[in-house]
Amino acid sequence: MSVTGSLIVISGPSGTGKGTICKSLFQRRPDMFYSVSATTRPPRAGEVDGIHYHFLGKQLFAEMVERDEFLEWAEVYDNMYGTPKIPVTEALQKGRDVLLEIDVQGALKVKSKAPWGVYIFIVPPSLQILRSRIVSRGTDSMEVIDKRMAKALGELAHLHEYNYVIINDVLEDAVSKVESIINAEKCRSHRYQLFGNADVNQPLVTENVPE
Ligand code: 5GP
Repeated sequence: MSVTGSLIVISGPSGTGKGTICKSLFQRRPDMFYSVSATTRPPRAGEVDGIHYHFLGKQLFAEMVERDEFLEWAEVYDNMYGTPKIPVTEALQKGRDVLLEIDVQGALKVKSKAPWGVYIFIVPPSLQILRSRIVSRGTDSMEVIDKRMAKALGELAHLHEYNYVIINDVLEDAVSKVESIINAEKCRSHRYQLFGNADVNQPLVTENVPE
């Protein structure tokens, strides 16, 4: 596959604010392709089908798994989540930067297929702050909160499998750091072509552009 866009994968424990970071990033970089995942979980208040998620029944999700239509899929908190493959590969081939906001299991599956992607792990400043953020959302029972905290500890153990770690203390700072990583990725030498016998008036290097 000839790919010119960057693949940016963001994970982090539930409640670290990665969703808010991605929303804020979208304001700054509306040109990026934000992958819409499929899920079997029911929509929360205010969530719109096709925008926040593709809300699917279990049967349809299983059929998509069977047809190998996901780049990755995983079970998270008793629901299935998956990244539809075609929109992501098409966007990358057209040279668009693609953002996936997925859990650690999914990110590691994507990394095994696309080690050239950029893997960013968002962490909360402390476990206490993480817990109070989850509690203040008011959407989970104590049992679910305990489950999320236990999962957070398991996910943090994978931190070194990511290329970058960002502590989400001040939102705008965290978003700026993600943006800096994306900008740096655009400057990677493998993205450029050098003209050996360059005409002095021509650019010395050009960015690889999609065919
Ligand atoms: P929520 O139900 O709170 O929106 O998401 C729960 C978790 O599922 C989050 O950690 C989120 O990053 C993860 N998630 C969302 N979409 C996907 C996906 O397509 N694949 C995987 N593996 N995880 C996902």
